[in-house]
Amino acid sequence: MNRRNFLVTTACVIGGSHSFSTPVMAISSTSGENFEVVRSKKQWQAKLSDFEYQVMREEKTERPGSSPLLNEKREGTYFCKGCDLPLYPSNTKYESGTGWPIPDAVGTKEDNGFFMKRTEVHCRRCGSHLGHIFDDGPQPTGLRHCLNGISLVFKPA
Ligand SMILES: [Zn+2]
Repeated sequence: MNRRNFLVTTACVIGGSHSFSTPVMAISSTSGENFEVVRSKKQWQAKLSDFEYQVMREEKTERPGSSPLLNEKREGTYFCKGCDLPLYPSNTKYESGTGWPIPDAVGTKEDNGFFMKRTEVHCRRCGSHLGHIFDDGPQPTGLRHCLNGISLVFKPA
């Protein structure tokens, strides 16, 4: 178990000033992971827009800076668009404000695409792709969660 805290930012897509700091309880490989919420491809396609499907179920990445969540500065919680699991609370947001993600809300797996080793991050309940974790984030943990805003739903407090 890896219990170190980490900073989560949405720098790639939601915006460089959105950073989440999170205690993540476990970093585990999730290939073959069983999710609580399971839907068929057809069910996902009915629930999501084409682009949401591509990002959340096929691990595409949205255009940097394109998410409206970039400018979201209210207090509240970022939920998984796939299953409504609360993922990233904004209550201790720094700079433009984000917060302590809810422990165990996300899972990860190694992703060796794009010529580099990255850690993929997804909702632990439905497996929807959220983004990637990089190790060039700010201290104390040095980790940066780079998330697709399209995978998230913000609900103000
Ligand atoms: Zn989910």
